[in-house]
Amino acid sequence: MIDSLVDAGMNDLISDLQALIRQPSVSAKKVGLVECANLVAKMMQKAGINSEVLYLDDKTVPPIVYGEVKSKANPAAKTLLFYNHYDVQPEEPLELWEDEPFSGTVRDNKVFGRGSADDKGELVTRIKAVEYFLKETGNVPCNIKFIVEGEEEVGSVHVEQYLKKYKEKLACDGVIWEFGYVDAKDRPILSLGMKGLLYVELIATGPSRDAHSSLAVLIENPAWRLVSALKTMRDEKSGRVTIKDWYKEVKPFTKQELAVISKEPFDEGEFRSEYGIKRFVAGARGRDAKKALVGMPTCNIAGFDSGYIGEGAKTVLPAKARVKIDFRLVPGMVPEKQLARLKKHLKDHGFSDIEVNFIHGEAAARTSIYDPFVKKVDEAAREAFGSSILSVSSAGTGPMYSFVKVLKAPCISIGSTYMFARIHSPNEFARIDLLNKCTKCMVRIIEKFAA
Ligand SMILES: [Zn+2]
Repeated sequence: MIDSLVDAGMNDLISDLQALIRQPSVSAKKVGLVECANLVAKMMQKAGINSEVLYLDDKTVPPIVYGEVKSKANPAAKTLLFYNHYDVQPEEPLELWEDEPFSGTVRDNKVFGRGSADDKGELVTRIKAVEYFLKETGNVPCNIKFIVEGEEEVGSVHVEQYLKKYKEKLACDGVIWEFGYVDAKDRPILSLGMKGLLYVELIATGPSRDAHSSLAVLIENPAWRLVSALKTMRDEKSGRVTIKDWYKEVKPFTKQELAVISKEPFDEGEFRSEYGIKRFVAGARGRDAKKALVGMPTCNIAGFDSGYIGEGAKTVLPAKARVKIDFRLVPGMVPEKQLARLKKHLKDHGFSDIEVNFIHGEAAARTSIYDPFVKKVDEAAREAFGSSILSVSSAGTGPMYSFVKVLKAPCISIGSTYMFARIHSPNEFARIDLLNKCTKCMVRIIEKFAA
């Protein structure tokens, strides 16, 4: 049975993970990326996976690692694609690490280090699942491919270009997403989607330079101007965006989706105390709070900047006011279309003087809960972890839509990352017991996907 190979191979898995951690690969600083890509390619070869390091025409863009194993018994079988990333977040602040950030220290059932969970731990479970399959049976029951990118932590800026350039190579029938959380009760969360994002900057301009504030009787203050414009964009009571047609393409949840949402565990009280808040937006509770998390668009002020905020008083009328806003989007919403609606809204409300700068746009994606792929992955997760939680969508954003659009394949997020594994923070770790269960889960996904 492959499970016993997984158990016997845990030391090997850990040493591969340590090797990956010890090769820093910080995309924000462009450190060690090509080296790490080459290391991943080598690791795949060692596991029996054919690998290649692929580039775009612009060779300064970090490469992707492509991996492939064809099923010998059934070359016409379906193809499963694993999407991961080899880049990591910066290691700072250094003083808060108990070990060296890139040490891969093993202690108390944990492997510590930047990238141990996000995403190198996830990557090794998938490589090892394929390796043990090949070791045990000399074959894989379906075709397997890998795409491992190097810019996930900086917004996957080129992943769509890669998908388009290597569309034939990457063609597949289902995608296992790069990460998956495991909750405090050791239940893996199968997430079927991600929200989209529209990120903009609005600038209001006042006098040609900062003015004495006594002149506020005559000169319009751009900070007020911006505040007034912002007030027209969102209803404070309901939290709803009040821009015309903002929700036009948003479909309500189906009965079955609502049933899934109802079953999803969510400790409201703990959540509120964790963040030190007394109530949720619009006073949402119970299922409404969960519905908001998986399916509510937002208009969030991410930053506001104007005038004097130093010590004491400075009576000034600022020349400029600037706000950064992120709108979370849900399936059906097209970032470019929403941007046009925002611009029209400002114009219609007499704010055509406010400059709108587009910063980033990404559409949402969601795999249907009826897709047969969901049932297979869910069964695999239950067998390997003992239980599972199905989630209609994650509240966060990722490049899932690019995969759905270019490869036209359903995507499911499932993995080994403990909820409190301190990803993106000092002392990030991967739990060894979860790496073990997740590898067994991946083995089962490969088996069931082929069936
Ligand atoms: Zn990350």
